[in-house]
Parts: sequence; C-alpha cells; structure tokens
Amino acid sequence: MENKKLLEEISKRRIFGIISHPDAGKTTLTEKLLLHGGAIREAGTVKAQKNSKFAKSDWMEIEKQRGISVTSSVMQFEYDGKVVSIMDTPGHNDFGEDTYRVLTSVDSAVMVIDAAKGIEPQTKKLFQVCRLRGIPIFTFINKLDRQAKDPLELMEELEEVLGMPSVAVTWPIGSGMQFEGVYDRLASEVHLFRKDEVVQLGEDGVQGSELEGYLEEANLTNLRDEVDLLEGAGNEFDLELIQQGELTPVFFGTALADFGITPFLNHFLDMSPTPGNRKTTTGEVSPTDSTFSGFIFKIQANMNPAHRDRIAFLRVCSGTFERGMNVTLTRTGKSIKLSQSTQLMANDRETVNEAFAGDVIGIYDSGTYQIGDTLVGGKQKLFFEPLPTFPPELFLKVSPINSMKSKHFHKGVEQLAQEGAIQVYKNEFNDVILGAVGRLQFEVFEYRLKNEYNSEVRMESIDYTLARWVKTDDPKSLKKYQGLRNMLVFDNYERPLFLFANEFTLSRFQENNPELELVEALDVN
Ligand code: GDP
Repeated sequence: MENKKLLEEISKRRIFGIISHPDAGKTTLTEKLLLHGGAIREAGTVKAQKNSKFAKSDWMEIEKQRGISVTSSVMQFEYDGKVVSIMDTPGHNDFGEDTYRVLTSVDSAVMVIDAAKGIEPQTKKLFQVCRLRGIPIFTFINKLDRQAKDPLELMEELEEVLGMPSVAVTWPIGSGMQFEGVYDRLASEVHLFRKDEVVQLGEDGVQGSELEGYLEEANLTNLRDEVDLLEGAGNEFDLELIQQGELTPVFFGTALADFGITPFLNHFLDMSPTPGNRKTTTGEVSPTDSTFSGFIFKIQANMNPAHRDRIAFLRVCSGTFERGMNVTLTRTGKSIKLSQSTQLMANDRETVNEAFAGDVIGIYDSGTYQIGDTLVGGKQKLFFEPLPTFPPELFLKVSPINSMKSKHFHKGVEQLAQEGAIQVYKNEFNDVILGAVGRLQFEVFEYRLKNEYNSEVRMESIDYTLARWVKTDDPKSLKKYQGLRNMLVFDNYERPLFLFANEFTLSRFQENNPELELVEALDVN
C-alpha cells in the first residue's frame, strides 16, 4: 500500500482500555461512547454482556452465574473520522492476569472514578500497571449527577494517592441536585446540564457576564473561585507530558445521563497518541513499515463450543493486514495463511479484509498460538517485546478425579496454560500446580476442564503464597535447594522457580543462598 494512505489510516487509529473499580461506571461509559460513535444502535446492548443475551457460548455460563464478564473483548467504533478501539478490561474484584495483559496492547487508558468515592483499590492497581508502561492516562470523574466529593479534593487525591500530576480540562458546576454543567477550559465554553445548550465564553472566561442568568448564584460564585484557584495553583496544560504519561487530563460528567461525554471524547481523540513504534528484540518497528507485523496479547477460548475453537487477538503493529495473506509465526518459523479473520464489533463478528497498525483483529486458532506470539509478513525473524508474566499469589495442586481420564486432563491443562488463562507448574513428582493472580482464575479453570475437556478435577490448597523464578543455566543443580519450606517447580516454558510460604521464608532462603538470583517476574518467550 502506498505510504501516504497507510499514514492516513494510522493517524485515524486510537486504542485504549478503561480502568476502574467495580461500579464506577465503566460499562455505562463504554455504552455511551459506542452510542456516540454509532457502533451500536440500542442503549443497553453492552450491558447485555452482564445478562443472558450476550452469552453466546456455553462456558460463558460462569459469567452469567457470577454476573460478571470474565474475558475481555474488543469494541470498535468510528467517531469524527477516527477509528477507535476500546479494549474491555474485566472490572470485577477478582480480576486476573488477563486484565493486566490487555493493557499491554493499548496506546492509552481512560480511568473512570466515582465522584463520591474517589480513588478505589482496583483503580490504583490498574493505574500502576499503566504507569509502569508509560501509557497516557485520561481521567473521567463520573456520577456528578449525584452528591460528589469536592472537585478540588478529588484532584488532590489523584496527586496524593496516585502520585500523578493532573490538569483539569473540564470542571463541574455543582453536583447532585445542584449539578448544572461542565466548563470546558480549553474550548472556553460551558455545557449546561438538562438544558442541552452550550454557552460560549468571552475573553474573561467564567469571570465574564456570559454565564449570568444561566447558573444559580452560588454555583457561579463557586465556579469563579475554583477556576481562579485552578489558574493560579493548578498545573499547566502540557500535551507532551500527557502523551508521555506524566500528566493526566481530568474530565467530569455523568455517564448515565450521557453528559460531559462529548467534550471528553473530542479532547481525548485530539490528545491521545496514535499508534507508535513498538519494541522488538532487534530494534523498533514503526507503524508505517511496509511489512506487516503484530503480536497476540489474548487468546479467548470456545466462542463456539461445538468446535472447541479459540480466537487469538492480535494487535497490528506495522504494515497492512490483508485477508488471506501468508504470515510467519516467528516462534516456530511456521508459515500460516490468515484466511479467516474476524473483528469484534460490539456484539457481532464481522470479517475483516484489511487492517492497519492500531487495529485489533481476531484470528481463528485451533491451538497454534501462544500468548505473546509474533506474526510477520514474509520471513523476517522478529519478536515483539515479551508480555510480562505477573507474579501469582495464589497456588493450588490439581489432579484428575478419574485417573483413566488423565489424557483429557493433561490436554486441557496444556491448552489453558498456552492461552495464558492460568499459570501451570510441575514439581519433581509431576504434580500439577496452578498459580493465579485472582481466585476466579481457578474457578474458570475448573469449569472449563469439566465442560470442554470432560475432566473433573480435585483441587487441593497448598501452603505457598510467593513465587520466584531463578536465573540459571543449570536447572538440575537446583534440586539441592529444595527444602521443607519451599518447593522447586518448572513453568510451562521449563523455567525453574521456587514457591515459598511467605515473605519470611523467602528472605531466609535468600540469606542462606545468596548465590541464587531470584526474580519476581520473567518475560514470556
Ligand atoms: P462498572 O462496574 O464500572 O461497569 O459500572 P456500571 O457502568 O455497571 O455502573 C454501576 C452502577 O452505577 C449502575 O447501576 C449504573 O447505572 C450506575 N451509574 C453509572 N454511571 C452513573 C452516573 O453517571 N450517575 C449515576 N447516578 N449512576 C451511574
């Protein structure tokens, strides 16, 4: 494809994920964003993910039972000439590695905060993952139609609890019963709540006379005081810092009433970065490179239970994807024809014929791919930066109840490990140990083994809470370090690690064996 057209397509693309604590309003905001983009016609379609309508496959049964969405999906919409992909990140309390991993595929994140609650624990955890990766974070403070915390206090909380400087782009006028609108500082206009009107401000901004008669006296006085404070003591708007992930622009509104979303969306699309360069083991790939490349960051199983197929989600990083093209899976060197590819639009799958950097495509997978795999057009030997393995904190020993069916059991275990659904280790007796970040990962594992692999399992708790990988060229030599308070196991890539009961036993172990280099996380590949 001509470079100019490719450049044009790329500059239209945005990929982001929404991070939030359960109930802050992520689903509602997603739904409203999709509505603005016209990707879905009816409100409530996304919400349906939480009830039976969305459940297309059997194993999603568990999602229905728990009223949560276990797996993340991709939704794409067009708005103002931009092609926007929202990567859904499971927002329930018991999220797993999947949530973290999805954040490796996005170019920016939107952090939704409940205005009455401020920063909540899960928001903080997910924020830190984004921060570590240098992903720009946009803050949307939601539920202004309800009694909210003081907005200046909320800004302070962002800085104090998260350690992130913030700059207000829009500012709320009152909250709850007194909520009257938001002031857009960059556009110098006020969007009125319930009146469906926008007041353009003059040179003096909110201090001028334009707002008089529109707002309650008290609200106007308050707004003028607060804006004074913001202008005097607040951070300056700095697009570069925002794009580097060093400053978060803040917006206010109510997703439920679909208010404050328009200024947010417009500014977000202006400020959020287009797909950039991606690191590989041999230098960087630019989105405009003519050779196609991408990596798999998520594998979702059994969209169709009758076929036990999986869908591998690939983020395109360079070149043009064309349906039917031949690519190389660089891990194995195998050539693959990508004839069936699907794109997940809100609810329906559509076939994709062409895709560019900043697009996510779903590829049918019958067991070929692993999390973190790189696909390239041609024969180039290229590996994208490995996805991080997150240190599990929960461990269980698992075995088949019916030993006659151990073949099914081992096949299931192997496939779920490949998907990255759970971490699987083996010890010297070939016991299967599972490691997870969230307890729900165990439930999903058990459910899927039974339903997809016809294998009922016994799960036994074991007394370990910490895992540390060991950097060594001679894994066999590690046997002598095995003790009563630790367990030597090997992960799915045959890499050795020790499990420990607690911090205390870990530090004792390290003291006694200073020659061992223990690490908390290792890269996949
Ligand atoms: P999620 O768990 O973050 O996806 O949150 P939801 O979008 O499901 O919202 C949780 C609850 O808050 C639901 O009952 C929503 O209707 C409600 N909610 C979401 N946004 C707003 C808002 O702006 N104002 C009010 N009053 N309620 C909201």
